[in-house]
Amino acid sequence: MMLAGKTALITGSTSGIGLGIAQALAAQGTNIVLNGLGDAKEIEALRLQIEATHKIKALYHGADMTKPEQIRDMCKKSVALFGAVDILVNNAGIQFVSPIDEFPEEKWDAIIAINMTSAFHTTKACLPEMKQKGWGRVINIASAHGLVASPYKSAYIAAKHGVVGMTKTVALETATDNITCNAICPGYVNTPLVQNQIRDQAKHHGISEAEVVEKIMMQPQPTKKFVEIEQLGALAVFLCSDAASNITGTALPVDGGWTAR
Ligand code: NAD
Repeated sequence: MMLAGKTALITGSTSGIGLGIAQALAAQGTNIVLNGLGDAKEIEALRLQIEATHKIKALYHGADMTKPEQIRDMCKKSVALFGAVDILVNNAGIQFVSPIDEFPEEKWDAIIAINMTSAFHTTKACLPEMKQKGWGRVINIASAHGLVASPYKSAYIAAKHGVVGMTKTVALETATDNITCNAICPGYVNTPLVQNQIRDQAKHHGISEAEVVEKIMMQPQPTKKFVEIEQLGALAVFLCSDAASNITGTALPVDGGWTAR
């Protein structure tokens, strides 16, 4: 229970990586603020499950990450309830794949807003209490695509490179406040976001989903294995530990060797 009594807000934590990180932090005793889209009953069941399993308090706020007002309201309510957001995990994200000359403007705007700008709004809103308490952790879930590019993902790659840049800046601005800010850069993780891509690619290429995974998706990932959600949860917990207090401003690849090429 290394983080007992602290509070973590994880954006996009109703599914996938965000939910895994929420579970891993809750297991260390942090109170949790869940956020994300989904069925209200299922989200309430998830909130109750996290509270019961880990004996902590969990709040859900449905702020839409494209809406700055709602993001600010989520941070304000979290601080009002728990006193501070000690650990902020900027994780919410979406994907859209298309050549840039056909890329729909509204998809570009949504990806930049959800995958990058929302992290500006949450960080701006949560840093004052972290500074006041003299402890804080900001963890941005970027991507291997925050470090290198692939075709047809211009908005996603622009947003993720932006997140890596913002991570470095926040780290420098908070370096003497006992606050760290790091980006985690996963390769492919088998979540709904990637399952949608597998389905689309199988249709597009007229091959099976298993072939998409083997021949296309795992092609840049030398280990040929999906990154596990639990591995990302464990890294997030480590970044919150005292042992990691001098790790700041980094973009940590968890990508099976993708960016080593
Ligand atoms: P996911 O689809 O399982 O989860 C995305 C989460 O974001 C969900 O909880 C969803 O409700 C939430 N979300 C989406 N739009 C939102 C909005 N407008 N407002 C609030 N919440 C919203 O996907 P995931 O794979 O777990 O992705 C999580 C993060 O990890 C993303 O930032 C993604 O870019 C990043 N990532 C994923 C992979 C991968 O292979 N899955 C690899 C690298 C990075």
